[in-house]
Amino acid sequence: MDYSQLVKAYNKVESTSKRIEKTWEIQKLLKATPDELLDEIILLLQGTVFPVWDSRKLGVASQLMQKAIATATGMNEKEIIETWKNTGDLGLVAEELVKKKKQVTLFQRKLSVEKVYSNIQKVASMGGAGTVNRKVQLIAELLTSASPNEAKYIARTLLGVLRIGVGEGALRDSIVWAFLPKVLGVFFLCECGKIVPQWNFCLECGKENPSGTEAKGEIIEKVEELKNVKTDIVIPKSNPREFYNYLIERTQDAYNLTNDFGRVAKVLKKSGLIGLDTIELELGNPIKVMLALKVDSVEEGFERVGVPALVDHKYDGFRMQVHKSNGKVRLFTRRLEEVTKQFAEVAQVVLETVKGDSFVIDGEAIGFDPKTSKYKPFQDISQRIKRKYDIEEIAKKLPVELNIFDCVYYNGKNLIKEPLEKRRALVEKIINPIKWKIQIATAKKVSTAKEATEFFDGAMKLGHEGIMFKNLSAPYKPGGRVGYMCKFKPSMAEIDLVITGAEWGEGKRSAWLTSYDLALLDGDTLLKVGKASTGLKEKSEEGLSFSDMTNLLKPLITKTDGKHVTVEPKIIVEVGYQEIQKSPTYSSGFALRFPTVIRLREDKALDEIASRSDIILLFKK
Ligand code: AMP
Repeated sequence: MDYSQLVKAYNKVESTSKRIEKTWEIQKLLKATPDELLDEIILLLQGTVFPVWDSRKLGVASQLMQKAIATATGMNEKEIIETWKNTGDLGLVAEELVKKKKQVTLFQRKLSVEKVYSNIQKVASMGGAGTVNRKVQLIAELLTSASPNEAKYIARTLLGVLRIGVGEGALRDSIVWAFLPKVLGVFFLCECGKIVPQWNFCLECGKENPSGTEAKGEIIEKVEELKNVKTDIVIPKSNPREFYNYLIERTQDAYNLTNDFGRVAKVLKKSGLIGLDTIELELGNPIKVMLALKVDSVEEGFERVGVPALVDHKYDGFRMQVHKSNGKVRLFTRRLEEVTKQFAEVAQVVLETVKGDSFVIDGEAIGFDPKTSKYKPFQDISQRIKRKYDIEEIAKKLPVELNIFDCVYYNGKNLIKEPLEKRRALVEKIINPIKWKIQIATAKKVSTAKEATEFFDGAMKLGHEGIMFKNLSAPYKPGGRVGYMCKFKPSMAEIDLVITGAEWGEGKRSAWLTSYDLALLDGDTLLKVGKASTGLKEKSEEGLSFSDMTNLLKPLITKTDGKHVTVEPKIIVEVGYQEIQKSPTYSSGFALRFPTVIRLREDKALDEIASRSDIILLFKK
């Protein structure tokens, strides 16, 4: 398949901010993709060549990219840096300089998706000293054969910043549009004269139906009987919109179990909806973890999860998903990154103390001070997660204790649909607790506000963050924030937001970025909700400092405008505030009063930050 075909889709997707149009373009591309390339195309659409759980990561350094552009185009690096300064995007630099060169030489080979994918993968897999030249050669080889426009996307992909604005939701919807419309029962006639499923857009011309959510038109055809579709609900044939939502939900569930859109797409293409039943949790492949809603009182906790409820201590550590199979243990973070090497001692403890040949258990790893036997806040141990060298040394200095609270797979049986009460009973049976190594999360079945409050006070006395309320009869919902578990913490309100811009400070703070633009998510779009310039420290010894934050943000700068810079939305922070107000100034329509940065949330992914509907809910409260 020609890479130009993918680039055409990139251009179209990048040129619109409307999710429906992005989805439309992607599904067209997916339909045109041969089966054997679906995995590659889907990863490249996500701006990568590795699935999330692969420890190899993209992110070629800008200096290396400059060298490669220089080699491919014959421009000197000074010229490249000049062009870069003007655009702030090395992808655009590659495009411009390849264009200049192409005016002189006419020679151009066609690039295939396979070639681009394999060179990018080779570059990202190479490590260590002495590989720079080889990497430059591989990248230059691609850029030499690329058209200017192709060069832009090759460079961006390698740098790890594709910037076409495709989120998980849009990709999932495109897969459904591409491979599932045939199972929709009722089709309509669009204004453009083509056959349209009864959604609010035309599958032929891509136009949104101006009449709103329900398509207008005359029923012209029943495409396929739905009776062969095995599902666990009665298919609402009379309401295709509801059925469409059901398809989306089933597809999302399959993704939450596999984190692999390629696999989901191939199954849907081959076997349709019924194929999703064959998608199972695979040991060694992380599943998305179940997420928590926030409640503001113990009463609200009971309202959400029912009475009686299970309450757990809420530990201030980081999520650890533990897989065991074939005598080996593997550990994953909440963002599905593998950390087995970084926490080899934890894997060993699990091997020695948890009964069972195969399992997936879910817990929280908490740091502690071996001298004082006191728990430490997450920040103090977060450096262990990304550590690549001196791992044993740091493991001794910053030990962690694993607290297990769930089990979703055990000895060949998937327990996701089992009620929590059963799963928790299993946790208690299979774990041999050893203080400071592995524990069963402290929990209690409670029925009254008084019992829950006492439990909360106990957790706070031990220095924990708060408590979790859990629904005893609920299944485990991978990736879901559905209220099967809720967190209850002391009062200062806080939300997680992403930094999209910043401003250089004044006077003795002029070397630091000291004020940060904060944004929430609305679908795939980032909308501003305020600016924070407090909460950070002057010195790193005291905690997260302005200088630490500046070091994090500087490499992410994409545009400079006087003192203000725009940055890639990568740094997620927990922000405290006193109140939410309506605001005409910020694009979200809301503003936080007295926002202050509490801490970094390196464990969270962009799609986990607060959404506009979260803010609306909080505002109403
Ligand atoms: P938050 O990170 O503030 O959204 O809170 C949810 C997180 O609390 C989960 O993702 C876990 O990492 C963590 N946590 C700590 N203790 C527990 C527990 N007993 N049960 C579930 N999650 C817990």
